[in-house]
Amino acid sequence: MVQVNGNYLKLKAGYLFPEIARRVKAFSAAHSQSELIRLGIGDVTEPLPSACREAMKAAIDEMGTVSGFHGYGPEQGYFWLREAIARNDFQARGCAIDPDEIFVSDGSKCDSSNILDILGLGNRIAVTDPVYPVYVDSNVMAGRTGEAGGSGRYAGLSYLPINAENCFEAKIPEHHVDVIYLCFPNNPTGAVATKDQLAAWVDYAQKHEALILFDAAYEAFIQDDALPHSIYEIDGASNCAIEFRSFSKNAGFTGTRCAFTVIPKSLKGKAENGEMIDIWSLWNRRQSTKFNGVSYIVQRGAEATYSPKGQSEVKNLVAFYMENAEIIRQNLAKAGLKVYGGKHAPYVWIKVPDGMDSWGFFDLLLAKANVVGTPGSGFGAAGEGYYRLSAFNSRENVEKAMQRIQSL
Ligand SMILES: *Cc1c(COP(=O)(O)O)cnc(C)c1O
Repeated sequence: MVQVNGNYLKLKAGYLFPEIARRVKAFSAAHSQSELIRLGIGDVTEPLPSACREAMKAAIDEMGTVSGFHGYGPEQGYFWLREAIARNDFQARGCAIDPDEIFVSDGSKCDSSNILDILGLGNRIAVTDPVYPVYVDSNVMAGRTGEAGGSGRYAGLSYLPINAENCFEAKIPEHHVDVIYLCFPNNPTGAVATKDQLAAWVDYAQKHEALILFDAAYEAFIQDDALPHSIYEIDGASNCAIEFRSFSKNAGFTGTRCAFTVIPKSLKGKAENGEMIDIWSLWNRRQSTKFNGVSYIVQRGAEATYSPKGQSEVKNLVAFYMENAEIIRQNLAKAGLKVYGGKHAPYVWIKVPDGMDSWGFFDLLLAKANVVGTPGSGFGAAGEGYYRLSAFNSRENVEKAMQRIQSL
């Protein structure tokens, strides 16, 4: 009989969202009259900006003509989109990123997993704990972690705990690692990094010849101008970092699908024989073989986020979610809870009351407030004792959820 990839059988974290769904279903079955408010999964709720919709409609009409028809596009993305990204997201912030260092894709979830294709199996990998589960699970699937231990941690990964005690700032490891995943603004904790903090990571990466995989999916939510949006705002980062960006959260593209990955041409890795290899060339080769590009229509939609109208609509979307986050922060603080994040990220990270664990607090809010969040322990062992609420919902639902929690 055909053999399956045994690495998939080592997965643990995949039980989080199915377990939430199971508990919600059981509760709903027993209490059919209660109206649940879901502040759990990190999906956006507001409509697509009209600048994007107009650009996509125009692109569809072009596709209906012989001269405007587009078949396979470049695997790396259309140059006009890569150019708009380089200019607006990087050069405007003083980062010397060229359009051809940008690879357009259909999501940074897939890019941040697929990147493992071009990295050697012997690398020592570090992740924060708690963490976006994709980084861990994609390493498990690729056979880089071994089996999970009792706490759900894998022997083959280095875990860097982030908690209230260290202000959600991971300590730079004293030992050697080859690959470090960083996500700022952070999912799930909502923490953000200063330039000095990122500079310390770049310094570590340079000393250890390590690679930083920097996930900036939430950069648009940064409210303070002094905070870095890109790792390339740090000197030396283009020799040691890959950055992942997405149109999902800033422009509501979670269902439309468009993202991009930045691989500076100066980035090098080592072959087994010690030879220096261009990482850009490997990714270009990987994408050309395994990927056939994002649809012309969607790339035109993404390009429109950089038009004056698109920029103002994106700004309003972000401001809307950040007001939700502020409402959540203030109400929970009033209810006597310790809250973190939510200032530069659409996630509020809550310390659960003493004597309770993450799932206990989940069950309490489900039963008593009919509010669904995410137990912190689902993001890693060090997330135990925390709970995540997302600001992605209508104002009405956020306010109603907060009234219910207040009145507990
Ligand atoms: C939502 C999210 C992304 C974006 O994923 P897409 O595949 O581009 O929709 C990336 N990283 C993190 C941490 C996220 O939460």
